[in-house]
Formats: sequence, C-alpha cells, structure tokens
Amino acid sequence: MNEKLIIGVDIGGTTTKLALVLERGEVMEKWEIPTNTSNSGVAIIPDIAAAIKLKIMEHSIAQEQILGIGVGAPGPVNMQTGILYTGVNIGWEKPVPLREELQHLTSLPVVIENDANVAALGEMWKGAGDGARDVVCITLGTGVGGGVIVNGDIAHGVKGAAGEIGHITAVPQNGYYCNCGKYGCLETVASATGVLRLATDELKENQDPSVLREILHTTGRLSSKDIFEAAAQRDKIALKVVEKLTFYLGLALANLGSALNPEKIVIGGGVSQAGDTLLIPLREKFKQYAFSTVAESTSIEIATLGNDAGVIGAAWLIKYKH
Ligand SMILES: [Zn+2]
Repeated sequence: MNEKLIIGVDIGGTTTKLALVLERGEVMEKWEIPTNTSNSGVAIIPDIAAAIKLKIMEHSIAQEQILGIGVGAPGPVNMQTGILYTGVNIGWEKPVPLREELQHLTSLPVVIENDANVAALGEMWKGAGDGARDVVCITLGTGVGGGVIVNGDIAHGVKGAAGEIGHITAVPQNGYYCNCGKYGCLETVASATGVLRLATDELKENQDPSVLREILHTTGRLSSKDIFEAAAQRDKIALKVVEKLTFYLGLALANLGSALNPEKIVIGGGVSQAGDTLLIPLREKFKQYAFSTVAESTSIEIATLGNDAGVIGAAWLIKYKH
C-alpha cells in the first residue's frame, strides 16, 4: 500500500472517532477511543496521539505516507493559530493550543476546525452535497449544529461562530431556555430533545387520543422516532408536533436560504432519520417562506454519511487547507 493517507479525527463528548482516509476521501479504516474528559480533559490530546501512533505501527505505515491529521473539535476554533477557544463538552474551559500540541506529539501536520463545520465539509465532499460548492448543513441531534459553505469553503465569521444555526432565535416570545444562555433558540425545538419537548407540551394541551400518550404511559418515555412513526400513521398529535417542528425549522432555513441561496441544504443527525415524514412538510414550509428564486433553486436533502461525515470532513482539511 503506497497510496497517501490522511488521518481524520472527530472529537466528541464521549468518544473520539478516528479514520485512515485515502486522499480521494474514502474511509479505509475507522476506529474509536473514549474521550477522557476528567481533569479538564488533559489526556485527550495525548490519547489521540497514542491511538494514531499505534495504528501507524499496526499497519507498518511510513510517516511520509501520511499527509497529515485533520481534526474536528467541539467548539469555536481560531483557524490561524490552531487554538480551540473553548470545548466545554470535553472539559476544556480555557483555550487549548490543539494544533500545536498534536503536531508536537505526532510530528505530523495538523489542521483543526469546528466539528459541525467539519461534518458539513464531509457532506459537501463525499455525501449529499455531491460536489456542490454552496451548501448549508444542519445536524439535528442532541443539539443542533450547523456549517455554512460558500464557494467551497467554510464561513467562519469574525470569531469562529458563523454557522451557529442552532442558536438562531426561532421562538421570540416565551421560548425555552437554551444551553447558550438565550431563550427560544432553534435547538430548543428542533433537536431530538426539542422535538420531545414539543410532543410533551402538545400532549398536555390537547386531549385527543394518541398512540404517543399510550407509549408514554406504558414505557414512561418517548423518543423522536416514536413521534415520527406515529406521524407517518397519521396520529393527530404527532402530526401537530411535526407541523410545529417543520414550521420553526422551515422558517429558519428559508431565511438562511434567502441570505445565501445555497445549491443544497443538507439535514443530518438522528432526527433526519425520519426521512420523508420530516422532509415533505419541511420542503413545503421552506418554499412558503423563502424568496422565490431560492425556493426554486435551493434543494433540501438528507445527509448520507452518518457518523463518518466528521472524519471525512477532517481529512478534507488536510487535502485542501494544509
Ligand atoms: Zn442557544
């Protein structure tokens, strides 16, 4: 094996995903290590370096065969200095010189980027973006992350906070509190937790019979999957929840779309697994609220790379940003 390789790293709150990626963006091998967030996350960078060294040894890969390490990190990033401003989810409350430390420990070139941006780059390069150079990605998971790609590159803004789509205010009055300190963020209604919150509220306000009420009664909990499955079966309450969700999401995406007119808006994360039950009403709302040229030319698609988007996008950084 003489082909050049890139190492993609995606640091998450509980696990860090790693992959050996071929230069053309194909994942050759992937593996995971736990993210050790204890002691303010001091072990995280040494753990990543050790995992990479071990893999290189296992496969007898020559150092010069590796083009570098791309890293997606959970927080705002300074691309010039390679510093992560904060990574609260992984115990990094102060700025960490991630690029410098990992470079020092591995003797390989390192490029870092925010994790949501990296996932967006992965989808642009090898996923639903399908070669488009103007793409907005939004991930509906535990939280809501986003990445804005304009003319083939990520928009960062003045302090690395461009693309924080989850914190667009969606509910300006009486909205729920968001982890960012604000109220009514899109994340509070469009994340997996947000969808559940909409369902719980609807079940309180609306006494119609619903399979959701039965599920909640017997199991004590609901999942966003339950809600979309019930909506697909035309359960009235579930349909109301999907209606509310797609209203908030469709309005936010239409406004973003009217600002950027991307070729594609790509929706990823657990909630996107609902497929057409989400996509069909969402496209309707988008068309209703977007500027007409945008409504006609911007398409909304479901992400295709799943959990691999991060490591693939991280590899993109080495291929195009190093
Ligand atoms: Zn927020």
